[in-house]
Amino acid sequence: MPIRPAVQSKGPRTRWVVVALLLFASFIFSLTAITYHIITEMVSTATRIDDARAARAAEIALVSMKAKMGDTLTDNAAWDEAFEALAAPDPRPWIYKTWGRLTVDYVLYDGMAIFNHDGSPLAAFLKDKPFSPTSYFGPELAKLQARAHDNPQSPVVSFLQTGDGPAVVGMEAIEPSTMDGDPGTLKLLLFVKWLNKAALADISQQHGLRDLALGAPHSGHGLVVPVFSADGDRVAELSWQSEEQGAKLYARVRPFLYAGLALLVAFLLVAVYFARLEAIRLRGSATMSWFLATHDQLSGLLNRSGFFHAIDNDHAGEHVLLLMDLDGFKAVNDTWGHPVGDKLIQRVAEALAGCHPDVDHVARFGGDEFAIVSSQPDSAGAIINAVLDIFTVPFTIDGHTVEVGVSIGHALSGEGISSSELLRRADLALYHAKDSGKKRAVGYTLELDEAKVREARLEVELRNAMRVGEVHPYFQPLYDAATREIIGVEALARWTGRQDPVPPDVFIALAEKCGLIDTLGATLLEESLKQAGKWVRLRLSVNVSPLQLCNPGFALQVEALLKKTSFDPRRLTLEVTESVLIANPDQARRTIAALKQIGVSFALDDFGSGYASIGVLRQFGFDRIKIDRSLVKAAEVDESGLGVVRATVALATAMNVPVTAEGIENAAQADMLRDAGCDQLQGFLFSRPVTAAAIDMGQSLDTVKRSLKAFG
Ligand code: C2E
Ligand code: CA
Ligand code: CA
Repeated sequence: MPIRPAVQSKGPRTRWVVVALLLFASFIFSLTAITYHIITEMVSTATRIDDARAARAAEIALVSMKAKMGDTLTDNAAWDEAFEALAAPDPRPWIYKTWGRLTVDYVLYDGMAIFNHDGSPLAAFLKDKPFSPTSYFGPELAKLQARAHDNPQSPVVSFLQTGDGPAVVGMEAIEPSTMDGDPGTLKLLLFVKWLNKAALADISQQHGLRDLALGAPHSGHGLVVPVFSADGDRVAELSWQSEEQGAKLYARVRPFLYAGLALLVAFLLVAVYFARLEAIRLRGSATMSWFLATHDQLSGLLNRSGFFHAIDNDHAGEHVLLLMDLDGFKAVNDTWGHPVGDKLIQRVAEALAGCHPDVDHVARFGGDEFAIVSSQPDSAGAIINAVLDIFTVPFTIDGHTVEVGVSIGHALSGEGISSSELLRRADLALYHAKDSGKKRAVGYTLELDEAKVREARLEVELRNAMRVGEVHPYFQPLYDAATREIIGVEALARWTGRQDPVPPDVFIALAEKCGLIDTLGATLLEESLKQAGKWVRLRLSVNVSPLQLCNPGFALQVEALLKKTSFDPRRLTLEVTESVLIANPDQARRTIAALKQIGVSFALDDFGSGYASIGVLRQFGFDRIKIDRSLVKAAEVDESGLGVVRATVALATAMNVPVTAEGIENAAQADMLRDAGCDQLQGFLFSRPVTAAAIDMGQSLDTVKRSLKAFG
């Protein structure tokens, strides 16, 4: 059941893309701002420079107006003929003829006047009409006259307010080229030129001043230059429209600016687009690596870390955890190969994911270990049954019928139980499920923990017992079914010197679990060989744990011990159970073959208690089978049980494999099994396992007597 990754942080790489994009965008923004600033600065500077130029031009225009007026005056005043003409008794007709009539439409002046040396007007014409200069010019006139008298050689010019508005007015004394008289007696010539529309139009044209006018600017971006009289009085002001050169400049570059801006925006959009794509890609790959990190490749289920992430995220409330381990998966791999094993894992994964609606998450922890979590603890029983049900029918994979079982350990969440503690509990329960016979479910209880503690304590004690030599072989005699003579002994381990005895199946299993079995097995074998070496007429049978047989060094170890104790290999039988043949058939076959090579025999122990068929006898080369005590008991109960025993013994003997019956407790059983074809008998009826010393006593008279009695 694949999970969607929980809400993920964007991840460092995505964040970098966003940061880079933001940096880039702010760079573009700053660039745009700087460009905008430069352009506005340029625009205003260009306008300012042009306005300054225009103001200078206006000032120059005013200066040159005055200069022109001065020149005109000098041309007319430094004139001998005029001086003489004015000396006539009535010069007025001459004045009119020379200057007055010109005023009607002359470019250089609009009015003129001649003053006597006392300042009184002699003649004055304004646009061809006589006028009164005194009222026309006001008090400024007298000042002008005074200055003209003071400075007869050069013209005095000033802007003045007249009856017709501002005008440039100039005055100069009329004197002959040979002047020797009193300058105070000279007559004065005055010209006046209006600063009217026509004059302004002229200036406009000559100096490039747009819409030049008198007075304050009326609209738009107007510029002003004041017009001062010679005394510094403000007479008027000239105003005109700014050319706004900056704006013109801006108008010219604007299309390029807009194009540049459009390009930038387009570029930015493209960058954003690609950054988005990249971010999506990165997020995609982050999701992908998240998926890979949290899922099992083979099954597509969550893996261990993904599973606990899911539990921590989604299971705040009560939940139940199931741990599952397939029984017999290794044999599937060994028998059919890994491709079949892989497919089996996939099929199991699928089946688990869909086995019950209350299953929230399914995970594979690797190998053949699976886990389920459900937030409905009430459904735990139903889920367990559903899981067990999956394995009631064999799987068919690539045409092979594959049979596996499942062991389940389960535990409930609760106050103060972390997910790792929950896992430990379920794991402990699973361990017990496997330990107590597999293909079952075990729920965690406190007793399991106590049992574990007991087991740990027992382990310490066993190590100690082995160190001080408290684990010894006892020997249980084997009898010839026909002659009832003792023909051999089976070594059976005993833990002596204990208050509370621990049976061998318990401490042997413990030694297997905690890795002591190789040492213990070797010790027991060596001591058995030493003891049995003295009983030259007897064979020796020694039980071998499946784990020992799977150890690749086992055959050599046995060989070395045989040599060390000078024991004839042909007198030794090793008893093995079928489990090793299923779990590790290849290694078992190799070990058996190697030891048979040097003369050691093999007996298949506990036959009939499991699944082993007669076929394995030939396959592995067994020399003998020992039918299990359960079969012996069953044979005593009814006919069908007897039938099974008879058929089994018949089949084995037909294959030239002799049969031992173990667990014979009464004479009837002994007769029945002898009649069924067993050639050797063993059981409490004849003898319990006894010490080596007891066997030493020549199988003691007592034992012999009892056996004689048993056989009648
Ligand atoms: P096993 O190999 O099947 O040994 C026979 C068991 O049946 C022995 O139990 C023996 O005492 C018992 N037995 C013999 N005759 C009778 C009888 O008439 N009635 C009943 N009820 N029981 C009888 P034990 O000695 O307790 O051993 C139990 C198992 O422990 C053995 O079963 C064997 O699988 C294992 N075992 C014992 N010693 C060793 C050893 O040195 N190495 C290994 N690997 N396993 C050992
Ligand atoms: Ca045995
Ligand atoms: Ca047995």
